[in-house]
Amino acid sequence: MAELLEYNCVIERADEIGGTLLVEMANEAGEGFDYTSGQYLYLEVEPDDFRPFSIASCPSQAHLELHIRLMADNPTLNSVQQLMVIGNKVRVRLAEGRCTLARKTLNRPVVFIAGGTGYAPFHAMLQELVSESLDFNAYVFWGAASFDELYLHDELLAWSKGNPHLHYQPVVQFAEPEQDVYVGMVHEAALQQIENLADFDIYLGGSAVMVGAVYQSLVSRGANPATIYSDMLDLGLCNIAD
Ligand SMILES: Cc1cc2nc3c(=O)[nH]c(=O)nc-3n(C[C@H](O)[C@H](O)[C@H](O)COP(=O)(O)OP(=O)(O)OC[C@H]3O[C@@H](n4cnc5c(N)ncnc54)[C@H](O)[C@@H]3O)c2cc1C
Repeated sequence: MAELLEYNCVIERADEIGGTLLVEMANEAGEGFDYTSGQYLYLEVEPDDFRPFSIASCPSQAHLELHIRLMADNPTLNSVQQLMVIGNKVRVRLAEGRCTLARKTLNRPVVFIAGGTGYAPFHAMLQELVSESLDFNAYVFWGAASFDELYLHDELLAWSKGNPHLHYQPVVQFAEPEQDVYVGMVHEAALQQIENLADFDIYLGGSAVMVGAVYQSLVSRGANPATIYSDMLDLGLCNIAD
């Protein structure tokens, strides 16, 4: 495992959108950060208590961006929210995670399937892909309980409209007929719209329970387990039945 680098950062942005806190922080030393798009960092939530959060920015950007799900009944996330005040100082260690585009097979299309803040690492990768010229097809399925929880829907829609290789399908659990969304579970949308799953590299983002359930559905419908990537799988946190 690579050694983690510690940075002292200052919070520059903390906006709540659809139940998620979008945070930007700058390196106090005035330098950049060393990581690869798709990796995660450890944020010091209480003294010497570091918790993992995916990095939503990409290395060419000066700041680090995080997408933090706010949950009123979660004491850790409440502590995180209290830290995220503009001007506050926080400590982070980075970076870890192998769920990056380095895993991608050359010339194969990609499917990203995310639940809620599981979109954060894909935001980093997609930003990098759209700023270069995306020369393979990438399909993004992003699901949440309700439409307003898709906190960067407009940005992702604009990226997909500006790039013929990027295809975005928003997914919500409860019907909202005025929006152009798939109603159901996020992986159901992918299973319905993607044929020949074995031909794709598939990235999964979200909680361990969500990733485990989606992984099993995809494999039972022909996806190749060797080309399904997720931090939750790498960390052995998913309960996968044989
Ligand atoms: C590799 C990794 C990356 C993570 N990245 C994020 C992140 O970008 N944003 C975030 O809010 N939380 C993230 N988490 C979860 C976060 O670390 C925990 O929510 C926090 O440490 C509190 O722990 P908990 O056991 O109380 O909460 P948990 O019960 O673990 O999580 C609470 C909620 O956080 C969200 N969450 C959990 N795991 C992930 C994940 N891998 N990616 C995205 N969302 C997740 C879900 O909405 C979940 O319901 C990540 C966890 C891991 C292992």
